[in-house]
Amino acid sequence: MDVIPTIAAFRQARTRYPTLGLVPTMGFLHEGHLSLVRRAKQECGAAAVSIFVNPTQFGPREDFSTYPRDMERDLAQLRSLGTDLVFTPDVNEVYPPGHATGVDVGVVTEPLEGAVRPGHFRGVATVVCKLFNITQPTRAYFGQKDAQQTVVIRKMVRDLDMPLEVVICPTVREADGLAMSSRNTYLAPAERQAAAVLYRALRAAEKRFAAGERNAEALRDVLRTTIAGEPVAAAPDYVSVADRDTLRELQTVTDGGALLSLAVRFGKTRLIDNIVVGG
Ligand code: AMP
Repeated sequence: MDVIPTIAAFRQARTRYPTLGLVPTMGFLHEGHLSLVRRAKQECGAAAVSIFVNPTQFGPREDFSTYPRDMERDLAQLRSLGTDLVFTPDVNEVYPPGHATGVDVGVVTEPLEGAVRPGHFRGVATVVCKLFNITQPTRAYFGQKDAQQTVVIRKMVRDLDMPLEVVICPTVREADGLAMSSRNTYLAPAERQAAAVLYRALRAAEKRFAAGERNAEALRDVLRTTIAGEPVAAAPDYVSVADRDTLRELQTVTDGGALLSLAVRFGKTRLIDNIVVGG
């Protein structure tokens, strides 16, 4: 496994692989990340992982400086999976002085996470575009955990004719249903226990959908009510029942199905989760 901090050396190493699967990450890897790496390796023969905590996707009052990092442990895990290349640039390598260009994917970046985290998706799209240009992957692997991000990346690739395939992989969860996330490490024990309410709420709404409910506001109510029943959970930043492609809020869930998503704070830690129903 080659661990490479510079763009020039990565480009050189890249020439050894006819096909390459890329998994972009911010490190502090868990089983969710590793599931993407296994799939990349399996499908592409060679897997590259980038580890870069991207400052431009964090807001000024967000957790960039405290975001968890453990490079040694990350590399040990990646080595055990047979990862071929790891790209570990520092901030200056990615954003040298004078860097100014950004990628704005437009209307799908506006609701949900985009409304609460202005500038977040410009940061995400810009760094992912750069990572694609640097690593030239055959396929790139993303988790359904970050549902709006998958919509933004797929749209960017389509709109800008980027020559690669985007693969979306299922959310990996803890035994109680909590979606794995590097940020789960922030949770105090009582918050960690309470956080299972996210998936419980999504499952309750899914159950209502399976029983025939197609009114989106009724499904949002199930999400709100379930979260309100957990005293450690703050009032959600949003609960959403939206079109899976446009992310516009629905009145009625039709044959296309819907993306159910929510964002909730537990103490200082903000968690997101989602599921798709129907479609
Ligand atoms: P991050 O390091 O949080 O930027 O995540 C890197 C990639 O891993 C993104 O495509 C995430 O959607 C994906 N990912 C994060 N958590 C999970 C999870 N629990 N299950 C599946 N994929 C995940």
